[in-house]
Amino acid sequence: AKQVGHNHFQFFVASIDHDIRERKQLEKELALALPNHELFVVYQPQVNLANSRVVGAEALLRWQHPEKGLIPPDRFIPIAEANGTIVEIGQWVLDQACWQAAQWSREGSPIRIAVNLSAVQLRQESIVNDILETLKRHKLSASQLELEVTETSFMTNIKDAVDKLHKLNRAGIRIAVDDFGTGYSSLTYLKQMPVQYLKIDKQFISDLLNNEDDTRIANTIIDLGKSLNLTVIAEGVETEEQEVYLNERGCQIGQGYYYSKPVIAREFERFVKAFHAE
Ligand code: C2E
Ligand code: CA
Ligand code: CA
Ligand code: CA
Repeated sequence: AKQVGHNHFQFFVASIDHDIRERKQLEKELALALPNHELFVVYQPQVNLANSRVVGAEALLRWQHPEKGLIPPDRFIPIAEANGTIVEIGQWVLDQACWQAAQWSREGSPIRIAVNLSAVQLRQESIVNDILETLKRHKLSASQLELEVTETSFMTNIKDAVDKLHKLNRAGIRIAVDDFGTGYSSLTYLKQMPVQYLKIDKQFISDLLNNEDDTRIANTIIDLGKSLNLTVIAEGVETEEQEVYLNERGCQIGQGYYYSKPVIAREFERFVKAFHAE
C-alpha cells in the first residue's frame, strides 16, 4: 500500500509539473499573440427586455491559436493578469471596441459598447487618460462606452479605484459592476462606487427557475438595483422562460445565448437587423 501511495504522489507531482510547463508555454505564446494577429474581439448583444431592442454589446476577447485552436479567455486572461500583459491586451480590446462602436454610429446604429476592465488595468496610473484618449482618437462619445469592473477591482486600494471611476464617470462613461454577487462585501463597495449598472452573473441565471436560492439571489439583486436607481443586466439568459421572468420581475436588460452567442462584428450586424425585423 505504501508503494501505491508513493506512486500516486509521484503522479501528482508530475501532473503539477506538466500544468506549470503548459502554463509557461502558453505565457510565451501569448506574448506573440497580439503581434501575430491571433487575437480578435467578438460582440454579444444586450437587449432591452421591455421592448426587445438591442441597446448594447459586450466586447469579449478571443485567441485563435495557430495549432491549439480557439483558447477561451478564462484560460489566458489570468495569465495575462499575472504577468501584466493584460494592460497592453486590454488597451487593444478597448481600441477595437471603440473603433467598432464609432463605426456603427457612423452607419446609423449607435449602441453602447461594454468593455471588460481588469483590476490590473484599473491600477495603472495612466488608465483614466488612456481611456479618454482612446475615445478621442476614435471620436466616440463617452456616453457610448460602458466599463465592466468586478468587485475585486475595488479591493486592493478602494480610494484609488473610487477616484479613477469618478473621473471616468464625470467624463460621461458608464460603469457596470460585473459578476455582481460573486465577490465580497458587495454592499459596502457599492455605496462608495459611482456605478450605473449591476450585472447578475450567469451562475444565478442558468438555474433561475429551478433553484429557489438562485431565484432569491436574482430577485435581491433586481430589488437592490431598483432601490439604488441602477440598471440591472442579466447575463447568461438562455431561455424564453428566463427572459419572461426577468422582465416581469423588473430586470431591464438581458444578455445570453437565447439572443446570440458572442459573434464577430459582421455577424453582429446581421443579427441586429434580423432581430429588429422580427
Ligand atoms: P464575463 O465578463 O462574465 O463574460 C460573460 C461570459 O459569459 C462570456 O464568456 C460569455 O460568452 C458567456 N456567456 C454569455 N451568455 C451566455 C449564456 O447564455 N450561456 C453561457 N453558458 N455563457 C454565456 P467568455 O467570452 O468565455 O469570457 C469569459 C470571461 O473572460 C469573461 O467573463 C471575462 O471575465 C473574461 N474576458 C473576456 N474578454 C475579456 C477582455 O477583453 N478583458 C478582460 N479583462 N476580461 C475578459
Ligand atoms: Ca463582463
Ligand atoms: Ca468575469
Ligand atoms: Ca460573469
